[in-house]
Amino acid sequence: MNKMIYLDHAATTRMLPEVLEAMTPYQKEYYGNPSTIYEFGEKSREAIENARAVIASTIHAREEEIFFTSGGTESDNWALKEAANLYRRNHPGIHGHILTSPIEHHAIIHTCQELTAMGCGVTYLPVDETGLVIVGKAEECIRENTCILSVMYANNEIGTIEPVEELAFLAKKNDLIFHTDAVQAYGHLPIDVRRSGIDMLSASAHKFGGPKGVGFLYIRKEIDLPSFIQGGAQESNRRAGTENVPGIVGMGKAAELSHRRMGEENRRVKKMRDRLVYRIMREIPDVKFMGNMKKRLSNNANFCFNGIVGESAAILLDTQGICVSSGSACSTGQTEVSHVMKAIGVPEGLAQGALRFTLGAENTMEEIDYTVEKLKYIVEDMRKAAV
Ligand code: PLP
Repeated sequence: MNKMIYLDHAATTRMLPEVLEAMTPYQKEYYGNPSTIYEFGEKSREAIENARAVIASTIHAREEEIFFTSGGTESDNWALKEAANLYRRNHPGIHGHILTSPIEHHAIIHTCQELTAMGCGVTYLPVDETGLVIVGKAEECIRENTCILSVMYANNEIGTIEPVEELAFLAKKNDLIFHTDAVQAYGHLPIDVRRSGIDMLSASAHKFGGPKGVGFLYIRKEIDLPSFIQGGAQESNRRAGTENVPGIVGMGKAAELSHRRMGEENRRVKKMRDRLVYRIMREIPDVKFMGNMKKRLSNNANFCFNGIVGESAAILLDTQGICVSSGSACSTGQTEVSHVMKAIGVPEGLAQGALRFTLGAENTMEEIDYTVEKLKYIVEDMRKAAV
């Protein structure tokens, strides 16, 4: 097979052609600053508001609850840091306490570490071996100064979909803000913030066919979250900085298309994913399938191959034109296993052999079969070389 086989859609997706087409006029012709008063600027302003309306409708939010950001990382930082800031403003001299899970993306984990250094408390909720937060044990972790519960909608490594509605209910019952990092879920799963009781939600355009460097944070109207970036009056004084107009337009288009195509694409991708899982589990010995079988993103398959280093396997797959991610990273000669694998209790030796395959609409069954054939030989060779 001459063409590249891209099986890393959780890392990023190709921009949809319609998205590029929608963005181009705002890069070439309509470059006006949306904050200006003349008609040329109005054109940009209108485009931003159209995108906001589309995005709000996809999650059943109000338009004024959508704030554009530079992506998932910024949205996550904003939600956590300013929830802690809001608590301190309302309780002078007292730091807030944050509840989250140990399998969050680094955009959350590292933000929590920063907040800990600043005096906040952080508790990581227990998760089971499939990565599901154990809701029954969450309530006992709530403290008097707990201000926010933040749990991801779906995990980026193992694809597990978290019990978001139950967690949101628990947050509401205890008067906490409920935030969810939906970077891997938005555009792939139907989300209803009203019905689910979500107070804040982070999303990122490049994970659903949009451009890189743009995302949004949904903030329920009743939450007076302070602004995170100070400067001009953009985004109703909540997020300063001249808007990334082409990026926002592209994200709006990608949101519209991904929601329109969601059902059909999920069915198509799941069929390929299931074949990949079936063949790997049947044809490669000593493999563990990671994550939850049922509560799982349709496009995600993650395995730990005993006796190999996932990162080396990913490099060998790359020589065959196949792009996948490993859960491990080699630094200074040592293989560092992912915090997600550690948190779900995978023994270190096995966790080193993690490989993540995340499929997209452009993949074919032929690509899946080709990948399994190559992988079989790579794993076998690596195991032989290790003895
Ligand atoms: N949260 C999750 C779950 C992610 O998977 C990612 C990116 O991989 C991020 C946050 C960060 O998003 P961005 O790349 O837009 O900064």
